[in-house]
Amino acid sequence: MSSSEIQSDSEDLIQGQKDFDFYADLLNPAEKLRKRIQQSTQKQITKLVKSAKKNEKQQKKTKQIIQKIKNEDLQENNQPQYDPKIFATNTDFQQLKLNKSLIKACHEQGYKYPTQIQAQIIPLVLAGKDVLASSCTGSGKTAAFLLPLMQRFGNTKSQKYSKALIVLPTRELALQCYEMFQKLNQFSNSTAALVIGAVPIQQQEAELRRYPDIIIATPGRIVDLMKNSFSIDLSSIEVLVLDEADRLMEMGFEAEIKEILQQTPRDRQTVLVSATLKATVKQLSLLALHKPVKVSVDYVDGLAYGLKQYILRIDSDDEKDREATLLALLQKKFTEKTIIFVRTKHDCHRLQILLGLKDLSCCELHGNLTQQQRIQAYEDFKEGKYQYLLATDLAARGLDIANVKAVINYEIPYETSRYIHRVGRTARIGNQGVSVTICLKREVSQFKQMIKESKQKLFKLNFNLESINEIKQELKQLESKIKKIIKEEVFEKEIHQTEILAQRAQNLIQHRVEIMRKPKKEWIQSAQQKKLRNQIQEEDN
Ligand code: AMP
Repeated sequence: MSSSEIQSDSEDLIQGQKDFDFYADLLNPAEKLRKRIQQSTQKQITKLVKSAKKNEKQQKKTKQIIQKIKNEDLQENNQPQYDPKIFATNTDFQQLKLNKSLIKACHEQGYKYPTQIQAQIIPLVLAGKDVLASSCTGSGKTAAFLLPLMQRFGNTKSQKYSKALIVLPTRELALQCYEMFQKLNQFSNSTAALVIGAVPIQQQEAELRRYPDIIIATPGRIVDLMKNSFSIDLSSIEVLVLDEADRLMEMGFEAEIKEILQQTPRDRQTVLVSATLKATVKQLSLLALHKPVKVSVDYVDGLAYGLKQYILRIDSDDEKDREATLLALLQKKFTEKTIIFVRTKHDCHRLQILLGLKDLSCCELHGNLTQQQRIQAYEDFKEGKYQYLLATDLAARGLDIANVKAVINYEIPYETSRYIHRVGRTARIGNQGVSVTICLKREVSQFKQMIKESKQKLFKLNFNLESINEIKQELKQLESKIKKIIKEEVFEKEIHQTEILAQRAQNLIQHRVEIMRKPKKEWIQSAQQKKLRNQIQEEDN
């Protein structure tokens, strides 16, 4: 390379460096600016994120505070009001001479004072007196007879017989009584057996052979065992309790009760508890009791102290409006532990499908379900697995479920006594609750007449029914789905029944000789009478 060429290259290089410096100088402020913008944006973003986080925290805190206040409100509402009409506030469980373990169990359940019926019945049962008590569910009557029985028979293990028999009209009520026994038995060691239909009879026979202190039973199954099994002997029963005696009579169990009275000792102690003292109950008391002490606790004409009753008036006579109104009520107003009463099993199931399609969590309780399904529904709703329980009158009568926030009457009930029973599922034993009765135009005057008899104030529910037409439209679209589901269910049921029949026929062929050798089961009522009774219950349901 020549010196002139070197000279020219180095000049180029110098010029390049100059250009670079020139552009670098030009770019520098831009770069600086970009960096500054980037930094400030970053700062701003960090600031924004920080403030969003702070906001979020604040919102969360506010939510928590609101929830806390809401809970406090609910708790405040649910604080038992020690209304002296319900509670014997001038006494306590010690004064009733119950033992320490039972008192501890009562306190564990949150029982501060005995209820009026408990204060009256416990000393009488402890003293061995016959009692005729007029008292409804929700008065604390179950504990009133269980506590003294547990006290008396809890320490007599060496004797080889059962000492007390409690008879209740339905399996649900018997189960409830058994559950109450378990709660009160937490710190004691009494024993009890639950003897109801739909549970394998062999299991019950085995339990009875261990001589539980107390047998809690429905009339049908206990008489079945008395007639057809060697595992039960009532000849040593010391105390017989007939709970909900009016219903026992209403449901046609007279023959079973007479059989029980005959099979238990004449000198037994008998306690008869009934919501009403109708003529049939009076007759039964003459037959069953010996010089009874009469106890009556009837507060607020059957309606709970903390109940607020509402009417929701629909300005038409269209049944579709009723369905749409119920949906609107559930979606907007009643979102917690609510029981919806429906007149028929068919409507009850239809609503169950409808609410299911609308993603509202609900279960159903009516006479078309198997016993297992009924008990499952009761347990699930009680435990809070579902928000709503759809029920017919008969299936849900007497059910004791804590903290039911509201009762909705889908239609007006047939009569006042049913109304009282329905709304009695909420506002139990001193708590607060509301009831809403949906009334079509034609039902309003009949319902008002019904309430007049109950002598308590009726409020108008302020609820905006503007969206009803929209919901009705939606329901129209769902109709084909509902019909399809019902059709499929009927088909499945038929298949299931055919399978059972086929299985039965196969068993008959296979075990013919053994079956023929077995003694015929004895029933108190003829098949015809049973059929008649079932029919009555069916209509009732
Ligand atoms: P019953 O009338 O037996 O169906 O009882 C109704 C409800 O009252 C049940 O949930 C019991 O747990 C409750 N209960 C019973 N005794 C008392 C009491 N002394 N204080 C508060 N609640 C009670």
